[in-house]
Amino acid sequence: MRFDILTIFPEMFASPFEHSILKRAREAGFVDINLVNIRDFAEDRRRMTDDYPYGGGNGMVMKPEPIVRALRDVEERRGKGKVILLSPSGKEFDQATAKRLSIEQHLVLICGRYEGVDERVRGAFVDEEMSLGDYILTGGEFPAMVIVDAVSRLIPGVLGCSESPEEESFSKDLLEYPQYTRPPEFEGMRVPDVLLSGNHAEISRWRRREALRKTLLVRPDLLEKADLSEEDKKIINEIKGRG
Ligand code: SAM
Repeated sequence: MRFDILTIFPEMFASPFEHSILKRAREAGFVDINLVNIRDFAEDRRRMTDDYPYGGGNGMVMKPEPIVRALRDVEERRGKGKVILLSPSGKEFDQATAKRLSIEQHLVLICGRYEGVDERVRGAFVDEEMSLGDYILTGGEFPAMVIVDAVSRLIPGVLGCSESPEEESFSKDLLEYPQYTRPPEFEGMRVPDVLLSGNHAEISRWRRREALRKTLLVRPDLLEKADLSEEDKKIINEIKGRG
């Protein structure tokens, strides 16, 4: 998949894509990440990318012309991709969105700064506006990194078979069951016996029950859309019964 990231701070991306799974994914050609400095598309002498807001008020607004020129340049050189504007006013990015985006060929991410981006960019050049959550960051660079990371690991082949995303939190609208590794006892805390039993059917049942328990306690909202079997519902009622 091709990612083009439009930013005025391309240096911020120097390290995050240079390690572990994303590094491997880039080297193996599963993902191709191209950083575009919006400032390179500013035409005035001082390479300005922001200006005062019409109507007054605090802060600066990112000008439309450099961003749109950068978008057109990307389209000309690398083809037309789905254009995503990072913005606190967007739809919240979640695992289902990551999955949906992972089958795209090309994503173009626009990182805002200051008070945000001139509305005309969003209105005419953006396919989707996405937020990382209900808080305000200083810029869209961290959200862009998060989206590249979450989407890339869902592209078939990027994760090794030992790192399957199928069982992870949110993949089936449940949080993941608790995970343990060696040693079997650490500072008086023992790994649950069932995980040491070698009985795979029992282990599966335990994991399902613990995933249901954790989701019920921490994110009961997820259970409303989860695909629950009759057995799951029985387990939930038992857990609730025990308080
Ligand atoms: N004035 C804007 C508002 O109240 O919605 C906030 C602008 S914020 C300081 C600057 C840029 O950071 C935004 O244009 C956006 O690209 C990025 N940003 C900040 N918070 C974000 C979030 N929760 N999700 C996605 N992008 C965010």
